[in-house]
Formats: sequence, C-alpha cells, structure tokens
Amino acid sequence: MVCLPRTFGPWRDGAPSGRKAAKSQDRIRITCVKLVQMVQVDINKKGKIKMDKGIIYKGPSLLDGKPIVAIATYSSRNTKTGKVLQTYIIRSDISPLEASKTGEDFSICGDCKLRGTPTTDSDRKQAKKRDCYVNLGQGPTIVYKSFINGVYPKADFQWSRILLGLDRFVRIGTYGDPAAVPNHVWEQLLSNADTWTAYTHQSNWRPDIAMQSADNHEQAIAQWKQGNRTFRVIADLGDIDKQNEALCPASKEAGRRVQCTACKLCKGSSKGKSIAIVKH
Ligand code: SF4
Repeated sequence: MVCLPRTFGPWRDGAPSGRKAAKSQDRIRITCVKLVQMVQVDINKKGKIKMDKGIIYKGPSLLDGKPIVAIATYSSRNTKTGKVLQTYIIRSDISPLEASKTGEDFSICGDCKLRGTPTTDSDRKQAKKRDCYVNLGQGPTIVYKSFINGVYPKADFQWSRILLGLDRFVRIGTYGDPAAVPNHVWEQLLSNADTWTAYTHQSNWRPDIAMQSADNHEQAIAQWKQGNRTFRVIADLGDIDKQNEALCPASKEAGRRVQCTACKLCKGSSKGKSIAIVKH
C-alpha cells in the first residue's frame, strides 16, 4: 500500500532539483501512472490530479454484518455546507426506501429513533413516522441507482480515499451513520482533508471525529458528562441550553452567517460548545 504525501500533485511546492529529486520525481510519476490505471481520475487545468467520486467501502456493516456500501461524491450545490465531498452510506442490495420500510436500514443507521417504524402498508414507501431530515427519495435514491448502474469507480484503497478527501471539506455521513463503516476508511479520507463534519447516533463512536447526535436534552447531558460534544435539533430557540450549546450559525435563526466550510464547528469533541439547530 502506498501513502500519497501531503504535497502530492504536480508539484505543489515547485519542481525539485538534483539527482535525489529526479529519483523522487520518477517515483511520483510511477505512482501517478498506477493511480490513473487503477481509478477514474482527472487532471485539471493546473495539472493537479483530482477525483470526484468513488466507492470508498463495500462490505459488511459493522452494525449488523449485512451488505453496505459507502460512496463519496464531490458537489458544490449545497447552500448550507458549500463545496463538499458528500458521503452516502447505504445498503448495497436494496434501495434506501425499501431498507427504511422494512427496517433493514438498521445496517446503516443502527437504532436511531428517527428511522421510524417498519411497515408492510402497501400505500407507504418508507417507514411509518420516519423523522430523519434526509429525504430518501432524493440524494440516497439517486446515489443508489447510480451505484447499481455502475456510475461509481472503485475507490476502496488508501490512495483513492486520500485523493478524494485531499484539501476538501468532507461531510461524513451525508446519509447513514459512519459507525457502520470501518474506522480506517474515515481516517484515510480525512488524513489530508481541509476539514469535515460528522455526526453519529452510536454512543461514543470516535469522539475525535464525530459529534454525538442527541435526540433530547437528557441525552445531550449524558454525553456532555462523558466529555462529548453533541448536535441537537430543538423545537424552538427557547429550548437551547445556553450554557452548553451554541446555535448553528448556518441556520435561519442565526442569520445564515456562514457555511460549514468556514464554520468548522461540527468536528468531534475537541472544540467549543455543543451545537443546536431549530427544526423546520
Ligand atoms: S455548526 Fe457550523 S459546521 Fe455545524 S452544521 Fe452549523 S454551520 Fe455546519
């Protein structure tokens, strides 16, 4: 396995000189050739290699052993987050809507209560009383169909994960809980990233990476006692715990002052107050 250096790319810090440098350039060129052969990459106008999508993990869920896939796609369309590498964690064998309706989404969400209740009601497309903010008919379904149609190249090795995250804002778990995917996948994706956001419903999963999603004030207090930061959706501004929580600055109530790319607050337990956002 080869690890790309932080300066990977033609040649960010200027072309090296001398014999040693020539050898090093040869090595990098060979690396580039192998990389181009193995994955779908583009060279942009500045001569930098870039990769905009790929399957970063395919295998059993760490939550229940059933088949899942984690897919990364680079997008500049989200007004809250800005330019971002989105990551979708979905079942690889059934659609996100079917997984929700049958309760098989446990593989990618664990026991998050926002999943709702499984149902056999033929009039319903997804679980009853599902309360998750992610619209399954949009991003997750589009990504699942694209995956089935072979749109995403394989990117489940160290180089490609590093390259996908390189200098980017990474949104871990745009849909799905990162705890379903082995740790090394996220470590490699984030190793050279600019910054990231990450949320989990699995208690104490990688507090160095993720915020704990809290469904109520009691859950948040329990997490704070363990030294973890939380992200909590509140009914209105009066619900915020001002001593421990700050309002998300990208929210309407905070005046949409900043995007996640600049804010960087939802990045595990290392910095600042916990975050709250008013439900809409
Ligand atoms: S607090 Fe910052 S990083 Fe977290 S969701 Fe809001 S804008 Fe994004």
